[in-house]
Amino acid sequence: MSVQVVAAKMAEVELKDVPTGKDLSAGSPMSPTSEDKSLPKIESFAAGSSAAASLTVESSAKAGDSSPGLLTPNAAKLPQASAMKRTDPQQNGGEAFVNRDGTVAEAPRMKKIQFAEQKQEFNKRPSKIGRRSLSRSISQSSTDSYSSAASYTDSSDDETSPRDKQQKNSKGNGDFCIKNIKQADFGRREIEIAEQEMPALMALRKRAQGEKPLAGAKVVGCTHITAQTAVLMETLSALGAQCRWAACNIYSTQNEVAAALAEGGFSVFAWKGESEDDFWWCIDRCVNVEGWQPNMILDDGGDLTHWIYKKYPSMFKKIKGIVEESVTGVHRLYQLSKAGKLCVPAMNVNDSVTKQKFDNLYCCRESILDGYKRTTDVMFGGKQVVVCGYGEVGKGCCAALKAMGSIVYVTEIDPICALQACMDGFRLVKLNEVIRQVDIVITCTGNKNVVVREHLDRMKNGCIVCNMGHSNTEIDVASLRTPELTWERVRSQVDHVIWPDGKRIVLLAEGRLLNLSCSTVPTFVLSITATTQALALIELYNAPEGRYKQDVYLLPKKMDEYVASLHLPTFDAHLTELTDEQAKYLGLNKNGPFKPNYYRYADVPFNPCLLHHDFIL
Ligand code: NAD
Repeated sequence: MSVQVVAAKMAEVELKDVPTGKDLSAGSPMSPTSEDKSLPKIESFAAGSSAAASLTVESSAKAGDSSPGLLTPNAAKLPQASAMKRTDPQQNGGEAFVNRDGTVAEAPRMKKIQFAEQKQEFNKRPSKIGRRSLSRSISQSSTDSYSSAASYTDSSDDETSPRDKQQKNSKGNGDFCIKNIKQADFGRREIEIAEQEMPALMALRKRAQGEKPLAGAKVVGCTHITAQTAVLMETLSALGAQCRWAACNIYSTQNEVAAALAEGGFSVFAWKGESEDDFWWCIDRCVNVEGWQPNMILDDGGDLTHWIYKKYPSMFKKIKGIVEESVTGVHRLYQLSKAGKLCVPAMNVNDSVTKQKFDNLYCCRESILDGYKRTTDVMFGGKQVVVCGYGEVGKGCCAALKAMGSIVYVTEIDPICALQACMDGFRLVKLNEVIRQVDIVITCTGNKNVVVREHLDRMKNGCIVCNMGHSNTEIDVASLRTPELTWERVRSQVDHVIWPDGKRIVLLAEGRLLNLSCSTVPTFVLSITATTQALALIELYNAPEGRYKQDVYLLPKKMDEYVASLHLPTFDAHLTELTDEQAKYLGLNKNGPFKPNYYRYADVPFNPCLLHHDFIL
């Protein structure tokens, strides 16, 4: 890539009471051996030129403090969840809550199943007041389903568009547009559950009492509006920011969470099942408001950034930076940068180690089986599975399936990943060689047309086909929409495609991301990404003039290490401290960074612990 990716020269993060018990105030990530002379230690968020640099996190292990311990491993016992949600796919999302005492409380049932094909009518269905189309077609990422199984937001019978409703929260504030403010209590419960798995954000919040590194920040956000995002937004608010938020995906909003946020005073414009017009209208409502102008952007997919560029380019005069999470959004930023059109600094969160190595690998390892179970009730033991692509996502999927006793084949185009697959004990094959015999086909390549009609024709009866990659082009689903094939919707997100001879294949989520469409994703992994986002915002907002140019930056290793260290206490993990002698021997600063920027963290092979994985369905 010709665009220069500059490792962000963030000043160092000072860690107090880290598991080693030492401050980590090291040299530049670019020069691992340098000593920490560059910056004075700053005890306050507000005092420093770089708030992230001055970030000091106290031990929370104060006497009598029952909150999650932060940087003191032994104090890191997380409180038990007050309720665990389970979803019965047979009941079309009807849910129950297992209370702490083991009793089961019924939650409102979904009265109506809304199938994907109904939702996809959004382009054709004019809204009640005949709104004009605001702009270009809705982006692919915004239409990818997400976490639909996680929410009971569809329980409302109310067909009225939120845009046609006048709602106010209990304090009389009506600066929001959501499905139903009355769902706020349910949403609050979801947020509280998520908080328990997001220890680092809670740590930042705690630290922020009295210190507001985002004081004066006006953050406009466009991300999935879920309980985890709510924890991030409330953290940003605790750090001093004002937030206005829209959804980056028309299906992913948890309506009850949006309600809780609106009740809490956030200006949220989002609901599950938005139309294309709604999608852009919501984004517009976030930025086009009298007396308020954003100075920071937090984007997932680049649609918000695109909208501001297109409609309100002058806003960039006040914007200090963009934080972008997704592959797609980052790609757009690099394109802007390459064209010389990027007029503010941007942080690429997607490519930080803590995002890629955790979100892509561990998230998929944890959620792939969940997605299958909820949709098909399939047993994995002894099943023959072919996984296309052995990158981070493929590795996660293979590890989970192998642990369950599946016979796993891998296809790859890259000899290095192919060799990794072989060394990890997987048979490397061409798809054609196994297509007749496998029970399950999974794509995770980020490529297109990996599974085409010819493959689909040759699959055996009952073969389950799904995708874990970002876009729904990995499986050529369009090629299945021919007159001789019959489609039968058997459950939400499950289609049987039937050949004239009676053979049927099981297509999940119409070829969209399986885990994000049909299961939940682990909050803890999202916590890692959300913490990285929060720190990137703090850094960009507080960076002195000139530290960042109009370019796309990666978070430095030091910041990745910091995010990781904030999550270690959850595991009661005890980090070993380098001795002076060892540090000298390795040429490292004792406080990190511990690896050069080019270091590739080892991938995690087969994990037998997964054999004991319990499903909460
Ligand atoms: P990656 O680049 O690490 O891995 C993709 C692999 O697919 C590469 O090794 C590549 O050589 C291989 N590949 C490409 N074309 C192929 C083909 N025709 N046949 C076989 N192999 C092929 O990327 P990744 O991090 O594993 O992500 C893969 C996709 O998953 C991306 O689209 C990404 O956006 C998406 N993703 C999904 C989730 C999720 O939760 N489902 C999470 C993160 C990323």
